[in-house]
Amino acid sequence: MAITTIEQAAAALKFEIAGMVQGVGFRPHVYRLAVRHGLKGFVRNTESGVEIHVEGEPGAPERFWTALMDGLPEHARVYGVERTVCEPAGFEEFRIEESDSTPGGVPVMLPDLAPCPECLEEMHDPSSRRYHYPFTNCTHCGPRYSIIETMPYDRARTSMKGFRMCPECRREYQDVEDRRFHAQPIGCPSCGPSVKVLFSDGSELGFGHGFDTPAAQVAWVLADGLIVALLGVGGFQLLADASSEAAVRRLRRLKERDAKPFAVMVPDVAAAERLCRLSEEERRLLTSPAAPIVLARGGKDVDLAPSVCMFSRFVGIMLPSSPLHALLMDVWGKPLVVTSGNLSGEPLCVSVEEGLEKLGHVADVFLVHDRPVVRPVDDSVVRVTDGRAMMVRRARGYAPRPVWRTSAAAPDMLALGAGLKNTICWLKRGVAVMSQHLGDLSSAASLNAFERTVEALGRTLDAVPQVIAVDAHPDGPTFALGRRLARKWNATVVPVQHHQAHVLACAVENETPFPALGIAWDGTGFGTDGTVWGGEFFVLEEEGEPRRVARLRPFLLPGGDEAVREPSRCACSLARQMGPWRTYGLDKRLERGMPVRKREVLEAMMARNIHCPSSSSMGRLFDAVAFWCGFDGAAGCEGHAAMMLESWAAEASGEKMPGDAYEWVMHEEGGLLELDWRPLMKSVDEDLLEGVSRGCIARKFHESLVNLVFDVAERFCLDRLVLGGGCFQNAFLLEGLAGMAQSRRCQLSLPQRVPCNDGGISLGQVAAVVRQWKG
Ligand SMILES: [Zn+2]
Ligand SMILES: [Zn+2]
Repeated sequence: MAITTIEQAAAALKFEIAGMVQGVGFRPHVYRLAVRHGLKGFVRNTESGVEIHVEGEPGAPERFWTALMDGLPEHARVYGVERTVCEPAGFEEFRIEESDSTPGGVPVMLPDLAPCPECLEEMHDPSSRRYHYPFTNCTHCGPRYSIIETMPYDRARTSMKGFRMCPECRREYQDVEDRRFHAQPIGCPSCGPSVKVLFSDGSELGFGHGFDTPAAQVAWVLADGLIVALLGVGGFQLLADASSEAAVRRLRRLKERDAKPFAVMVPDVAAAERLCRLSEEERRLLTSPAAPIVLARGGKDVDLAPSVCMFSRFVGIMLPSSPLHALLMDVWGKPLVVTSGNLSGEPLCVSVEEGLEKLGHVADVFLVHDRPVVRPVDDSVVRVTDGRAMMVRRARGYAPRPVWRTSAAAPDMLALGAGLKNTICWLKRGVAVMSQHLGDLSSAASLNAFERTVEALGRTLDAVPQVIAVDAHPDGPTFALGRRLARKWNATVVPVQHHQAHVLACAVENETPFPALGIAWDGTGFGTDGTVWGGEFFVLEEEGEPRRVARLRPFLLPGGDEAVREPSRCACSLARQMGPWRTYGLDKRLERGMPVRKREVLEAMMARNIHCPSSSSMGRLFDAVAFWCGFDGAAGCEGHAAMMLESWAAEASGEKMPGDAYEWVMHEEGGLLELDWRPLMKSVDEDLLEGVSRGCIARKFHESLVNLVFDVAERFCLDRLVLGGGCFQNAFLLEGLAGMAQSRRCQLSLPQRVPCNDGGISLGQVAAVVRQWKG
């Protein structure tokens, strides 16, 4: 019989499915459906997804396929299907086969998911054998990425391999009708992982004294104002009572944490709504299986210790993300500070030994378990702006879902990202898999951990790069490592400029059609001319490198990195470089905000150009305007001054504005459009002299930036915009841009699944290399 029969009537079909189809109950679902259609054959996991072979009555395989596509399991995503008509092989039954490990595919791993409603219910049911069991999970929920050692996803290749299933768990695991059919991390109190409570010297706290569970014991410790280290899904977290100022302060001091706000966990949505005003989208995110930290606007009377949110008008809020957290919150019942279990600048602690050693002086008590954490996975942070969820930190619940798909013929590669808020990105057969947030590579310990993570993810993906993309900064932390890894893998190193990567990341994530205007605004990044960039505009065409067409008028940063910590330094620099626009209001403000002697030193440094890098950074311009508006002293954390400016602008959004938005002047300078901030500063000065409120000045500044973007777009006749860089974490700015885009009928692409900050750089680096390869 020829195989050219009409496909509709085929008696046997083979499907190779790529996508998020492992660990989501896909194979049992296929099994049930195949049996219902009277089909024989098999389904099995492969490195790239799932393979199905079905045979039976002519036409039945096709009907089976339609039914499968009409009702995929909840978390399954299908990206591609390879379908082949074949001869029936004479199978006698339909079965779920052991995994196939033929190399060459693109393994797609699932992220760790928060407990599903059924599992939560079971944990709260006294008649269930998993009553109060902190490792309850099923095919719809539970750990994945944090326990996977190699692919394909099977228990023997996860950190659950050391736990032997008891007969009852085995029965559930093998029962096709059971919710735990082939749930790889299955376990119960008699066979699965268990928890222990330890003192910081490693000795165990016995139970009793009225505490029948570890959660109750830990809640009692927290109520005493002490700090608890909890080994969660992806490593240690530090916990403290969010209503106790003393406890939160002590945590800040011991963890050497700067002024960055802490996140809080609450038991349920109702409790979240007592702290925040939640939008529909924010509520959806909070309760989603990814269970991220959501940055939501704080309510009227936020019942939190002042040192939790610090200066921020947002509260980072989250719901329990694992069964263990859910049990703890059942007993604790109120807001709890939850922060990453690491020391400042160091990687997350993932093993019990490491936790005791590094966090022993921070935490009083440790709540730990014996299910090894294969890789550190932090909590994710998301923010909703203009109705859209934007990733701030992409980790648990999202990583390592693919972020982009391009031609499978593109070379396999590894992009090492940037030095801060680092992520890496592997491209294998055209699928871009971005790692979880790996943090800052500022210490030797974090660089070592980084190198291990890079190699481990490569092993899990079974990938060998032909190209290694690095940040173009020759002294940056990824540059040297990139060269070392390139020797090992015999790969080519390709440096990618930081801001080009920013705009490309947004463009490929959104599949924005070209030509488009790319706007990269951030604190600092190494430019191709050796200066510090950060207020750049690019024209993106179908091919070639993004072409830089405009920039902020450069200014000096007296003291380099010191100018990042002290906004007054930027203000001093701008005042000095006002030239004919020079005004005395700014001088007066400086007199109040900076000692005379210090100013003399800075002036002398700038006059002689000693340690004063030149910069076109928008982040630093924000700092200077924040200083004019009254921001005094040092920035407590990165972006602090800009966040204050944003919140002043937002507070003034209902007020009547004196005068229009500030003006910019544009002129050509060496083939580049230079955006001159001097007239803007002059107007700020005039407003200061006239006693205009800081809120109005902040608002006029934001509005002037919105106008600037669209004026540049008009100048280059572009009506599509892509954004990148940390400045776009500013909700007030984004809402202004979105409003203007709508009225001007422009297409505005925002970084959403991939962070706009340096966490998105690795994807942009991959995109840059793919463009070179095409060109
Ligand atoms: Zn479940
Ligand atoms: Zn069991």
